[in-house]
Amino acid sequence: MEHADALILFGITGDLSENKLIPALYELTVEGRLDIPVVGVARSGWTVGDLRDHVRRVLADRNPSVVEQICSRLRHVDGDYQDPSTFAELASTLEGIDRPVFFMAIPPSLFDTVATSLASVGLNKQGRLVVEKPFGRDLASAVELNEILHRHFREEQIFRIDHFLGKEPVQNLLVFRFANSLLEPIWNRHHVASVMVTMAEAFGIEGRGRFYDGVGAIRDVIQNHLLQIVGLLAMEPPVSGDSDALRDEVVKVMKAVQPLTGEDVIRGQYRGYLDEPNVASDSDTETFAAVNLRIDNWRWAGVPFCIRAGKGMAETVTEARVVLREPPQDLFAPAGKPPPNIINFRMKPDDVISMTMQAKAPGQEMRAEGLDLTVDYGEALGGDGPDPYERLIGDAIDGDLRLFARQDSVEEAWRIVEGALDDAAPIHTYERGSWGPQFADVMLPSGQCWPEDE
Ligand code: NDP
Repeated sequence: MEHADALILFGITGDLSENKLIPALYELTVEGRLDIPVVGVARSGWTVGDLRDHVRRVLADRNPSVVEQICSRLRHVDGDYQDPSTFAELASTLEGIDRPVFFMAIPPSLFDTVATSLASVGLNKQGRLVVEKPFGRDLASAVELNEILHRHFREEQIFRIDHFLGKEPVQNLLVFRFANSLLEPIWNRHHVASVMVTMAEAFGIEGRGRFYDGVGAIRDVIQNHLLQIVGLLAMEPPVSGDSDALRDEVVKVMKAVQPLTGEDVIRGQYRGYLDEPNVASDSDTETFAAVNLRIDNWRWAGVPFCIRAGKGMAETVTEARVVLREPPQDLFAPAGKPPPNIINFRMKPDDVISMTMQAKAPGQEMRAEGLDLTVDYGEALGGDGPDPYERLIGDAIDGDLRLFARQDSVEEAWRIVEGALDDAAPIHTYERGSWGPQFADVMLPSGQCWPEDE
């Protein structure tokens, strides 16, 4: 796809713009990748001067000459998205522009109105549409939203953001798997005993009750971020590096996952959640969920993929642990059979890959002891890489769809979690600073435990 020739930010006055998008514009400008007009659209009654002042304030601690470069590219259209004249004005502001990127940093209830209004003034023809999560709240609403967008935009014009896919350590899963031949022979049910994916946050909902209470952990992070990680861990090698080849393989994994039922999920809520502002006093929204996935395909049949996500946990950590089968023989008795090898991809708080191996413990005895071969690859390879939004806005401008979720994978992910949503399973209270309801490990195969239980 050709480089875009304008970036239009719906929701320029909102939170996401302030915290993520405007800082990303800064980084893209530093790299010389933002050489196109940037048009804000919102209804606060701002002028372009107000928008420039806002950008200067948000970027107050950055290099002023770069900030001024951004300001010089800014345009602003003030108006309500429900009002057709807003789009008439936008169309005249974009005269001469052929390949605009529209970033929808707006409430999902407005996606339909904005997409339809863009089409009404002909801006859908070559435009690209970047859609923020959440993409639906169940399978039916996701299908409906896709149908609405497809009335006006072709699938290759739609960039569904899952900012997790913009993270360097998540992309590293792909490189580590497919740029090294070491793993492929063991990456299957013959050698892998289980896979455990954890996204734990030591903090609570931080005043976001209005948003979180209607959502919960499964919709917020499991349906999107964590299932995408499972897709990357479990996919077959793609036939090429192009966007559809990659996304085809992720979808094939999703199609092989059995839909969850209430029996495959454990839901928890941290003590004190009901006292948070804007949370219903009888809410049974889960702030913790653990699910057990079964991937019924040739490579993974019988290997449990356990996923858990929670707030108010003991630590902030995101990681994927691949536990290998134990050695078949116990050669080091009486010390006992060595524990299994583990390959751990830690994506947060640092970008670390470790392999837990066994080595001879020094001394008379012939005894194996576990040791971690660990590399902080961000540090080793010099730097953390771009912020996800910088990466993804840059990709949308370049027309690179690889790190955006395709319609079929979004719908498959909803199909998988649908039976575990809402009151499908009872909710258990857990203490803040713990690892969720104690018995969350009942779903793990015997002898396996979550890392901190070891
Ligand atoms: P905000 O409520 O902070 O911002 C909403 C923006 O939409 C404002 O710029 C607002 O303009 C504009 N807007 C709303 N209604 C209208 C309307 N009728 N006409 C014109 N402008 C309108 O939302 P967020 O920035 O927090 O979130 C935006 C999207 O990003 C949502 O889909 C959210 O789920 C998603 N998201 C947000 C994250 C975050 O960190 N905030 C993280 C991940 C996803 P005005 O100020 O002029 O009213």
